[in-house]
Formats: sequence, structure tokens, C-alpha cells
Amino acid sequence: MKAKKVLLTVLAVSIMAGGVFVSPCAAGNVAYAEEVQSQGEAQEAEPELTPEQQAAKEKEEAMLALRNDPNHVHKFKWVAHMNESESAEGTMNYMCTECGKTWYYRSIPAYTAFSGETAYKIETAPEGATVKIKTSLFISFNADVMKALAARPDVSLYVSFLDQEYKGNRVSFTIPAGEDTMALVDQNGYVGFLFLGGKYGLKMEVPMEPVEDTTESAEAAEASDSTENTGNTEKDLTTAAN
Ligand SMILES: [Zn+2]
Repeated sequence: MKAKKVLLTVLAVSIMAGGVFVSPCAAGNVAYAEEVQSQGEAQEAEPELTPEQQAAKEKEEAMLALRNDPNHVHKFKWVAHMNESESAEGTMNYMCTECGKTWYYRSIPAYTAFSGETAYKIETAPEGATVKIKTSLFISFNADVMKALAARPDVSLYVSFLDQEYKGNRVSFTIPAGEDTMALVDQNGYVGFLFLGGKYGLKMEVPMEPVEDTTESAEAAEASDSTENTGNTEKDLTTAAN
């Protein structure tokens, strides 16, 4: 009798222990499943690209696919490309504008690359877009940029620059779509940013964080700047500029 009772007790204890042992495990599995699910949701929501970034990404992927397409026929053209460092020489690339393949290139002065790349961005911008240019060095465009704008009356041009060339305050202006931009070019073939700012309204920009670790954060800052043009943090400097 006593042995049977002990056996029952052991059995009961082991069932209880088993129950205690099993349940956290089951709970763990449930928690894990939830975690996986929420990660899945986060992954879907994560690439919060701006419409411009999304369009650029899709364009890049389409170009890459085209480059690998044996039936693709290249359409080469000279396209200016800036160096990552604004002060360094850029290149004039003989490249296929459809797939991005570059056949050859030559070096060009940094300023020519700056104006040329801006003109190309205007030329290839989506319909009705605002092309955004940010420079910490240059304070004018050459006539190529104004020609590109004249050819694309649907495109606006936002320019952020430093008001004393490579130093001073970061300020910006926007040339609205459809302006007679060729009339803005001076007799030497250039158009100055301070002149454009005086005409279209020069805005003082919010001082940037001193550290810009990645291009991503710089782009994000740029994007938020451009969407907050009417914020209280900016002063209208039109009067001062005139
Ligand atoms: Zn091609």
C-alpha cells in the first residue's frame, strides 16, 4: 500500500513538474512566434523611402536589369558627373543613359561638373518634380542649368548653399517651374545664387547638426529641410537680400 502511495506521489509530482516545465516552453514558443510576426511587419514597414528615393531605387534596379539584357541597345551620351568631394575634378562620362554603362570618360573642372550634373538632373527629372541641389562650395550656375530649366518648364529647382561661398549661413531659394530662366543669365553666361535668392526669396535654413555621419542622415536632413520651408524656424531674407 505504502509503495503504491509513493508511486502515485512521484507520478503526481512529475506531472506537476512536467506541467510547470512544459508551460514556459509553450509560452516561449508563442512569444517567439509573435516576435517573428512583428519582425515581419517591421520589415514591410521599414523601407520608408521618400517617393523620390523610391523612384531612384526603382530606376537603378531597372537600369541594372537593362545592362544585363542581351537585347538592349546602348544609347550613349556625354553626361557630367561630380566627384563626391565638390572641390575635386569631376568627370564627363560617355555613358548609356538607359542602362548606365560608361564607355569612357574624361576629367572636367569641379564647377563644370556641378553645373553639368545639375542640368542632367533637371533634364531627366520626373514630370512636375522639384530638383534639389545642395552645395557647400559653389554660388552660381552656368548657362547650361538655365537652358535645362527652359527646356523643362514643369520642373522647379531648389538650391541650398552657403551665402559666403564655402562659409557663412546655409540659405536656400527655389526657382519655380515655368520661369523664363534664360533671361536670368548674365552677359558672362552665369547666374549667381544671391541674385536668384533676391529674386525668388532667400530662406535662412535651420542650422544642421555638426556631425553628418552618413549620406542617409544628410539626405534625411535635406528632405526635412525642403518640406519645412514655411516653418517658423526660417527667416525670410528677401528684404535683406534686396
Ligand atoms: Zn545601355
